[in-house]
Amino acid sequence: MSVERKTLSNFESLGLSKAILRAVSAAGYDNPTPIQKAAIPALLKKRDIVGIAQTGTGKTAAFVLPLLDQIANTYERPAANTCDVLILAPTRELAAQIHENVRLYGKYVEMTSTIIVGGVKPGKQVRALSRGISVLVATPGRLEDLQSTGAISLHATKAVVLDEADQMMDMGFIPAIRRIMKSLPNKRQTILFSATMPKQIRSLANDFLHRPEEISVTPASKPVDRIKQSVIAVAKADKRQKLVEVLNGQEFERAIVFSRTKHGANKIARHLENAGITADAIHGNKSQNQRERTLSGFKSGEISVLVATDIAARGIDIGGVSHVINFDLPNVPEAYVHRIGRTARAGASGVAISFCDVEERDLLRDIEKLIGRAFDVEGEFAGEAAMAETKQRANGPRRNGNRAKPAGQARRNSKPKGKANNSRNERRSDSSQGNEGGQRNQPKRRRNRRRPSKGAPKAA
Ligand code: AMP
Repeated sequence: MSVERKTLSNFESLGLSKAILRAVSAAGYDNPTPIQKAAIPALLKKRDIVGIAQTGTGKTAAFVLPLLDQIANTYERPAANTCDVLILAPTRELAAQIHENVRLYGKYVEMTSTIIVGGVKPGKQVRALSRGISVLVATPGRLEDLQSTGAISLHATKAVVLDEADQMMDMGFIPAIRRIMKSLPNKRQTILFSATMPKQIRSLANDFLHRPEEISVTPASKPVDRIKQSVIAVAKADKRQKLVEVLNGQEFERAIVFSRTKHGANKIARHLENAGITADAIHGNKSQNQRERTLSGFKSGEISVLVATDIAARGIDIGGVSHVINFDLPNVPEAYVHRIGRTARAGASGVAISFCDVEERDLLRDIEKLIGRAFDVEGEFAGEAAMAETKQRANGPRRNGNRAKPAGQARRNSKPKGKANNSRNERRSDSSQGNEGGQRNQPKRRRNRRRPSKGAPKAA
């Protein structure tokens, strides 16, 4: 068919060799994604690259394909305890996934690959390294351990990839990355991919990349358009019940629910199970085996809802995730983009629903600023009416005999006690509640429609 011919020539035009094109075709890819179109030719020319790319854009193939291509063209068996290409990833899951891709794309290439990550005994990894490895995928901690024992030396490494650099930063890996980079030869190709470009990552790139080509396919702060996003106001105590309602009311294939805490993730999974929805939690307190079991259950459809924390879930590529639900809003707005990027992978569409309780409104505002859109929040913030009422009672003339105070003064003096009145909420109340000043005023209903503040959206 003419479409197929055109398709193949699309990947061919990037300059990839036959063995790689065969693997691409076997993987069922028709056209290169934008990041692949931009990165592959540059990497084949041995340029360094800083790529700002969202998850689900095909960025793994964007660096793996050209690196394998170079190996295919110049294959020489690597010396014992060395590797030609090093790919660093923040989590074991992401490393495993990248390694799967390396094997998939390298099917027809003469090369060796292995993965070294923590959480398992090192014996097998040490044995694999002793044979010399073409492509090594690693997490920083275990790599450094094995460097220190001499099981791996990077003195002959020709190319290094730092994938999900901003997550490595979030996980505190930057000092380790800097040490690892210093143990590599000066003459090498360096590739850095990150979903966002905070200062620390920028300076990492400045220090370790040589005149890199910058590739930014879509602004990292923008979720892909195919995701239908919505926000529901839910009181904290009602969230689990609401989750069951939402899931029962949706036609969903597979859903990932994000929880801020590990303990919370366990509780949510148990609640769903009790409500008859198959679910399991994945987070840092689970063993590697447990995590793998859960992931494969989720992939096979045995488990329909995966409840995850950010760190455990980021970078995991599971096809057919139709829904992402933010049970808690993330503390860091960029995490919102990553989370919802779990759905709508590789051209599919998806649904992202976020629960927001009264105390999370500042987090929501941060997300709105980042992505440059305002949400029409469904429902009302339950705690808000109660908060306003408490405030009113605390200031009202009937309680303390005072007259109603002028608006600003009443607000300044009306500090209802309790958790809900943290400084964030107070700030928000002040700006949203105009001229209340005592018992004459009813608690105001929140206007749910809001706008991102000026200056947004923030560039990545
Ligand atoms: P990544 O952003 O690397 O995690 O890739 C996201 C998903 O896109 C993975 O499931 C890949 O298998 C898939 N993918 C990568 N490149 C292509 C392509 N050119 N066409 C279709 N799917 C692709």
